[in-house]
Amino acid sequence: MKVTVTKQPKAKPDSSKLGFGKFYTDHMLVMEYERGKWGEPEIVPYAPFSIAPATNVLHYGQGIFEGAKAYKRADGSITVFRIDDNFKRMNNSARRMCMPEFDAEPVKRALFELIKLEEDWIPTGEGQALYIRPTMVADEEVLGVHASKRYKFFILLSPVGFYYANGMQPTKILVEEEYVRASIGGTGEAKCMGNYAASLIGAEKAEAAGYDQCLWLDASERKYVEEVGSMNIFFVIDKEIVTPALVGSILPGITRNSCLQVLKKYGFKDYTVSERRVSMDEIVAAYESGKLKESFGSGTAAVISPVGVIGYKGRDMLIGGGKMGEVTEYLYNTVTAIQRGMKPDDFGWVEKVK
Ligand SMILES: *Cc1c(COP(=O)(O)O)cnc(C)c1O
Repeated sequence: MKVTVTKQPKAKPDSSKLGFGKFYTDHMLVMEYERGKWGEPEIVPYAPFSIAPATNVLHYGQGIFEGAKAYKRADGSITVFRIDDNFKRMNNSARRMCMPEFDAEPVKRALFELIKLEEDWIPTGEGQALYIRPTMVADEEVLGVHASKRYKFFILLSPVGFYYANGMQPTKILVEEEYVRASIGGTGEAKCMGNYAASLIGAEKAEAAGYDQCLWLDASERKYVEEVGSMNIFFVIDKEIVTPALVGSILPGITRNSCLQVLKKYGFKDYTVSERRVSMDEIVAAYESGKLKESFGSGTAAVISPVGVIGYKGRDMLIGGGKMGEVTEYLYNTVTAIQRGMKPDDFGWVEKVK
């Protein structure tokens, strides 16, 4: 593999000021698709791309991405979490968006080389990791509306801390009743750029009203809970831990799946675990009868994030007294312990980079 090492390495950021996605390492991985096939992955210095104004991703949004994390352990080893699942999902997204699939193995090997090269950028503090952002965009210079014949694949690395500014403090989410993120038959289950463009308005409305994020409902009835902007959602209702079923408009989160598998394998006291449709009427009824015990979001960026308040129809429902509940805490502790090697990985999720 071709590796071009930068002559101007950047100063590393202060690890107490990482935030999320504000800093990029010195190098990135790039791979080009043309004339019907992918070229070799290459490692090059992190630098701006030069792209023509007519490049079709700039007009029609044919682009997809992924999010994963690498961790450095106390013994100096480096690991990634469920990276094969990220590449598999990226190929699913590619099919939905008429983009070319790629062979994940050589890309993964090249990614591991990149991570090793950037080893000193991996932060090791509480809640910190090296975020991995694989991206694929259409880059044919043509304005006719067709799937592109050329694509650019790249992977950026970014040292990150907690996703939300206030760390593990419970978040406030506002149910969005007017706009929708995705509909059945649309692109909701693909991790594509357009989904995010469509969802910004909900996030802005929520932030303007004093919430952290919005909670999306189904597109046809505005009745069933789908997910939060970049997280899947769970509720603890009495003795049931429930998350919306993957009906086609919901992103199949890897963290969501990790939570379900951890709960099924280790169990959690006498709770049942289910994937099914959950209506806002049910959430309100559970809240009113005192059965809505906990809610949390799951995603690679935010890991497991407690929800303290759900705003709906002009009223704030305070969950668990605004504090993190025991199921949320158990999952946060268990999933992060597996990710960081503090608990044995019984699932084959952790892969060694070095
Ligand atoms: C990426 C993403 C998630 C979380 O998925 P993970 O695989 O757990 O990171 C949830 N919802 C949306 C819309 C996403 O894009």
